[in-house]
Amino acid sequence: MSVSVQTVPGGNFLVEESSPKELFTPDELSEEHRMIMDTARRFMLDEVMPKAEQLEKCDLELLVKLLKKSGELGLLGAEIPEEYGGMGLDLLSSMLISEEIGRLASWSVSVGGHAGIGTYPVLYFGNEEQRKKWLPLLATGELISSYGLTEPHSGSDALAARTKAELSEDGQHYILNGSKMWITNAGFADLMMVFAKVDGTQFSCFIVDTKSPGFTLGAEEKKLGLKGSSTRGVTLENVKVPRENLVGEVGKGHKIALNVLNIGRFKLGAWCISGSKFALNDAIKYAKERTQFGKHLAEFGALQEKFGQMVTLIWVGESMNYRTAGLIEKALTSVDKKDSQAVLRGIEEYAAECAILKVWGSEALDYVVDECVQIFGGYGYSQEYPAERPYRDSRINRIFEGTNEINRLTITGTLLKRTMSGRLNLMDALVEVQKELEGGVSPAPGTGPLAREKTLVQASKSGALLCAGVAINAIGMDSPEEKHQEALMRISDLVMEVFAQESAWLRCQKLIDSRGEDKVQMQIDITRTYVNDSVDKVRRIGRNLLATVSEGEALEESLEQLDRLLKHTPINTVRTRRRIAERVLEAGRYQV
Ligand SMILES: Cc1cc2nc3c(=O)[nH]c(=O)nc-3n(C[C@H](O)[C@H](O)[C@H](O)COP(=O)(O)OP(=O)(O)OC[C@H]3O[C@@H](n4cnc5c(N)ncnc54)[C@H](O)[C@@H]3O)c2cc1C
Repeated sequence: MSVSVQTVPGGNFLVEESSPKELFTPDELSEEHRMIMDTARRFMLDEVMPKAEQLEKCDLELLVKLLKKSGELGLLGAEIPEEYGGMGLDLLSSMLISEEIGRLASWSVSVGGHAGIGTYPVLYFGNEEQRKKWLPLLATGELISSYGLTEPHSGSDALAARTKAELSEDGQHYILNGSKMWITNAGFADLMMVFAKVDGTQFSCFIVDTKSPGFTLGAEEKKLGLKGSSTRGVTLENVKVPRENLVGEVGKGHKIALNVLNIGRFKLGAWCISGSKFALNDAIKYAKERTQFGKHLAEFGALQEKFGQMVTLIWVGESMNYRTAGLIEKALTSVDKKDSQAVLRGIEEYAAECAILKVWGSEALDYVVDECVQIFGGYGYSQEYPAERPYRDSRINRIFEGTNEINRLTITGTLLKRTMSGRLNLMDALVEVQKELEGGVSPAPGTGPLAREKTLVQASKSGALLCAGVAINAIGMDSPEEKHQEALMRISDLVMEVFAQESAWLRCQKLIDSRGEDKVQMQIDITRTYVNDSVDKVRRIGRNLLATVSEGEALEESLEQLDRLLKHTPINTVRTRRRIAERVLEAGRYQV
C-alpha cells in the first residue's frame, strides 16, 4: 500500500493525538466545492422537491426523467473523469452532492443506485474499453444503472451467491443463471452490475444489459419507506452476456463488491447527517407554530432538550464526515486520479472510518427522525405532515451498504488486521495507557475553554484502549470472529465514540483558534455536551466489555482502572442543550 508520507494512516486516531490544524472542516471548502453544492441544492429545490409528492407515489417515469435531467447538469458524473464525459471532481464533491440530495431519501437512493454502486464497478475496475464505452453514457444518465449483489439466500454473506456464469461453447458469452433480490432502480435500469460465480465457484462481476432475453423482473417490493424508489427482484435465465462485459478478473468480484460498498458507506454518512438536518428543520418550524397550554412547543424545556441533542449529533456527525473526507483527499493528493486502483487504495485506507460514518450516522438519523415525530405529536404520525416520511425512510440506512452489525465487525476487524500487520501501533498505545495507570506520564492537559474536554477525549481514548486491550488479550487477536462477536461489537462502539468525541473537539478547537472563543459559543456548548455524555457512554460500554471478557480480581482491577481514567464531574447539560436549542429555534433552522 503506497499512501503518501504526509498521510495519516487509517485508524490512527485511536493511537495518536491529532492536531486541530490538520483537520478538514466545512470552513475550508473551496469556491469550486461551494459551487457544486449550490448546483445540487438548486436542482433539488427547483426540480425534485416540488415533485416529491408525485415521486413518492412511485412515479418511475418522472423519476427517470429527473435522473436524466440531473445527468445533463453533471450531477450523476461528478466522480467520472472528464475524458469519460464526467466532471472529474474529487470524492469530497460527491460527498457534498450527497448532502444535498439527502433532502429526499427516495431520490438519493435512486441516484446512489446509479451514480454510486451502479457506476463504480466500471469506474474503478473496468478496463479502458469498458470505461470509454459505458462511462459517458452513465455520466449523463443516458443509460441508468443498478447493482445486483444481494440474492434471496445471500445478503450479508454476499460471497455465498448462487447465481452462476458459464462461458458459452464458442467462448464469446457468459451465460448467467440465478436470481437477485432488493435491487434499487431495477424497474427502469438499462444496466445492472451483476455478481455471479463463474463455474459456480469464482465470484465475478458482469455488466448486464437488462433488455437481454431471459432477464425478468419481479414485482415492485412493497416497502416500509423509500416509496418513490424502485426495488425489485430479478431472475436471470440463460442470459447471454458478451465476454467483454466481465468487469475485472474472473474470481476477483469480491474486491469490487467490497470496495464499492466502502465508498458507499462514506457517502451514506453524509446523507444521514444531511437528512437529519432537513428533518430537524421541519420540526423547528412546527414547534415554533404549534401552541399548547398557551405556549409554543419550542418554549418547553422537554422539547428544547431534544432540539439541543439533535443539533449536537448533527454537528458531531458533520465533523466526522468532513474529517474523513479530508483524510481521504490528503491521501489522494499525490495519486494520479486516472490510476483508479491507486485511488481505491487511498480510500480503502480509511475503511474503518467509512464504516464508522455509516453506523454512527445512520443511528444518529434514526434518533433524530424519531424525536421529530415526537415533537409533531399525533401529527407526526400523519402522512399529511413532514415527519412521517423521514421516519420510515431512515430505517433502511442501518440495513443496506452492509448492516450495522456487519459494519461494526468491519471496524474492529480492520483495526485488528492493521495491528497484526504492523500498520497500526495499537500495542505501543496500550503500553502507554498502562504506564499512565501506573502513575507515569499522563497526556498533556489542554488549555483554554476546551481544556477539560481535551483531557476527557484523551481519557476516553485511554479507557477505550484499556478495555480493548483486555478484551483482545482474553479472546486473542486472530480468534474466530463468530465466537466473540458481542465483544468485538463493543470494541467498535468504543472506537466510534472516541472518533466522534475527538472529531468534535478538534473542530471546535480549530474554530476557537481561528475565530476566537466569543464567536463560537454554540460550538463550545455542543462539544462540551457531546464529550460529557460520551465519556459516560464509554464507561458504560467499557464496563460491560470488561465483564464480558474477564472476572474476579482481574475484572475488579480493570474496572477500577477504567473508573480512574474516566472520573469526571458532569457539566450541566440541561443548560448547554437549552442554549443550543434557543439558537436554532431563533434562527428557524439548523444553523451552527
Ligand atoms: C430498500 C432496499 C434497497 C436495496 N438495494 C440494494 C441494491 O441496489 N443492490 C443490492 O445488491 N442489494 C440491495 N439491498 C439489499 C441489502 O443490501 C441487504 O438487505 C443487506 O445487505 C442485508 O442482507 P439481508 O437482507 O439478506 O439480511 P441478512 O444478511 O439475512 O441479515 C439479517 C440480520 O442478521 C445479521 N447478520 C447477518 N450475518 C451476520 C453475521 N455474520 N454476524 C452478525 N450478524 C449478522 C444482520 O446484521 C441482520 O441484522 C437493498 C435492500 C433494501 C431493503
